[in-house]
Amino acid sequence: MTARRAATEVKNAAMKKWNMIIDVAECTNCNLCTLAAMDEYAGNDWPGYSAPMPKHGHKWINILQKERGQTPMIDVAYVPTMCNHCDDPPCMKAAPKGVVTKRRDGIVIIDPQKAKGQRQLIDACPYGHIWWNEELQLPQAWPFDAHLLDQGWEQTRGQQSCPTGAMRAIKVEDEDMARIAREQELEVLKPELGSKPRVYYRNLWRYAKCFIGGSVAEERQGIVECVEGASVQLVKDGASLAVTTTDNFGDFKFDRLDENSGSYSVQIFSGGRSKVLQVTLGTSVNLGEIRI
Ligand code: SF4
Ligand code: SF4
Repeated sequence: MTARRAATEVKNAAMKKWNMIIDVAECTNCNLCTLAAMDEYAGNDWPGYSAPMPKHGHKWINILQKERGQTPMIDVAYVPTMCNHCDDPPCMKAAPKGVVTKRRDGIVIIDPQKAKGQRQLIDACPYGHIWWNEELQLPQAWPFDAHLLDQGWEQTRGQQSCPTGAMRAIKVEDEDMARIAREQELEVLKPELGSKPRVYYRNLWRYAKCFIGGSVAEERQGIVECVEGASVQLVKDGASLAVTTTDNFGDFKFDRLDENSGSYSVQIFSGGRSKVLQVTLGTSVNLGEIRI
């Protein structure tokens, strides 16, 4: 390898930054990542990275939960959250210079010495991911296991403990991360803030969006049966948004709709018959059994 090529490779490697990718569809809320973070930080001092996390009260990795729909059409999504290691971090702006630093590899560190007494940082984080350590009078957040990565670890403790592979840390150049995010339809939390999080989510719609569903049935000679293959159309403001057909239980579902997004019409067609239902969408709704 030539000296120039080696120098170029070193430069490129130096430009790689850490990102976390979390698949909401794969998270089972087992909380092993949360426990791994507690095991790593509770009572342990990592000078230059983090002071000991208290045994109670802090959740440096916190799993959000949302139940959608009503029985029997119901699902639950879990979203592991943590410090997003924002590229334009509001917490950094709220502290004197040097208290919060952004490393070249993308990781944000709240200095465990200099941050003493900087309580205003708690409110500065729009994600609620800075926790106040009363005993040490210190704001604290998950430092991306930087002390381990700096020793050559290629995974965070949370990723290592995750049984489903829902959590994955990757170190790539920003250009590559942008491409991966595009190709895999990854999203970040609160993108409207412009804080540029480095924690990305796949299938976030399972938490953030809602659905309209129902079950089509008919009565034949006094017996109520599911209607398989009925055509169901979702219409908003006179325009067709989607068309689906009922499954062998008579069920249909239109997902990835925005919450509180107004009025929809659900139009059902089967065997020359039709039925129209009006829905004002708040959160996910199961229209239940619909006789046609
Ligand atoms: S998530 Fe909060 S604590 Fe973490 S970098 Fe962003 S603003 Fe700072
Ligand atoms: S360990 Fe994995 S599956 Fe379990 S809560 Fe954490 S991210 Fe979800």
